[in-house]
Amino acid sequence: MSDMKHLAILIKDLEDQLVVCMRCGMCQAVCPVFAETGREADVARGKLALLDGLVQEMFKDPKGVNDRLMRCLLCGSCSANCPSGVKVLDIFIKARAILTGYMGLHPLKKAIFRGMLVRPEFFNSLMEWGSKLQGIFVKPVDDLLGTSCGRFFSPLGDRHIKALAPVAFHQMVEPMNSRPGASGLKVGFFVGCVIDKVFPGIGEAVLRTMDHHGVGVFLPEDFACCGIPALSSGDTVAFNKLVRYNLQRFTAQPFDFLITACATCTSTIKKLWPLMAQDLDAETQEQVAAMASKTMDVSQFLVDKLGIRQVETQGDEKKVNLTYHDPCHLKKSLGVAAQPRTLLQANPGYRLVEMLEADRCCGMGGSFNLQHYDISAAIGKRKRENIEQSGCEVVATSCPACMLQITDMLSQAGDRIQVKHAIEIYAESLARK
Ligand code: SF4
Ligand code: SF4
Repeated sequence: MSDMKHLAILIKDLEDQLVVCMRCGMCQAVCPVFAETGREADVARGKLALLDGLVQEMFKDPKGVNDRLMRCLLCGSCSANCPSGVKVLDIFIKARAILTGYMGLHPLKKAIFRGMLVRPEFFNSLMEWGSKLQGIFVKPVDDLLGTSCGRFFSPLGDRHIKALAPVAFHQMVEPMNSRPGASGLKVGFFVGCVIDKVFPGIGEAVLRTMDHHGVGVFLPEDFACCGIPALSSGDTVAFNKLVRYNLQRFTAQPFDFLITACATCTSTIKKLWPLMAQDLDAETQEQVAAMASKTMDVSQFLVDKLGIRQVETQGDEKKVNLTYHDPCHLKKSLGVAAQPRTLLQANPGYRLVEMLEADRCCGMGGSFNLQHYDISAAIGKRKRENIEQSGCEVVATSCPACMLQITDMLSQAGDRIQVKHAIEIYAESLARK
């Protein structure tokens, strides 16, 4: 499809969706960015008004509009609280695509998305080298949390980061195509970049759990990114390439469900692949719809399809206090909140204690954290306070991106609280059986 035709379709969609907003301002109360900045331009209503102007005035100041549009976590809190059902995220994603299509992609982003992300083998090699050489630039700061900080002046700023894993998940395991066991079910496993390169233990926990429950697994070779980093910067070219690449890999073998342990990957495949599929041919659109309909979070699969239930045990005093952070992309985007809690409560070694504002955004927001770390960290500190006040020893969540942000906040504050994925907690209980 030509670029101009593509832009015209996106603009028409945008105009149709913008008229639904009645400017009531209900989104203001829940926007984490607005809570920090107090600027009307940062809340959904302000951005929607801006976009209305954008369409009418035909791009008088596209860069200014884009800069304001990028001051958003894409957390979906506004959509979830909107009485008119405005699809705010759909609008923002399409608006970013329009603006990037009009202005062109920044050369650095082009190099990252189109030169690296869409070429998984090359991306993997670069990250392997990065893992070997990162010790020159970062030094460990916290053994419990496994965080590092910059050795000298670095683009990391004050961040306490989780370094790249010494061995990535794709290096630990061979491609798989095992048959269904006792469960009679088989899943495709969509690993995602952060689990592959930073938290391979989460991938191992998923495989151990599937093996324990007799679930067959299809894990293709050279799996790729879901495309969200490219799409959130408006790069539909790289995004569409990644969608096609993943479809090619994951339609190679039949399976019942596509599972992920990354809330952002799940939400992207279920919501954003279909949203942006209009550029793709009819057959690919059908594949996208089919893949989206059978994609689910690993906790949802285990609880809703395998019937995992919480266990009641005696001797509560020996349990470790655990709290849970709801990733926006799981709860607000997909309505999945009970299943990860059930999974946590299926491990008799832990006691779930709810924190205040468990579903309030952690402030990560992918590239938002890179571009607006001051606001991101301010939002993250409120999450850290709620975690600390819960009295927990462990905080669990279902998104590796949230894990990065929460780890950074806890490490900077010197808290002795571990950060784990819900599937890691569950898999620990299987090791005891
Ligand atoms: S996006 Fe929804 S909540 Fe926000 S001003 Fe518009 S109608 Fe109201
Ligand atoms: S998606 Fe989140 S950060 Fe962006 S405007 Fe809505 S509530 Fe605010």
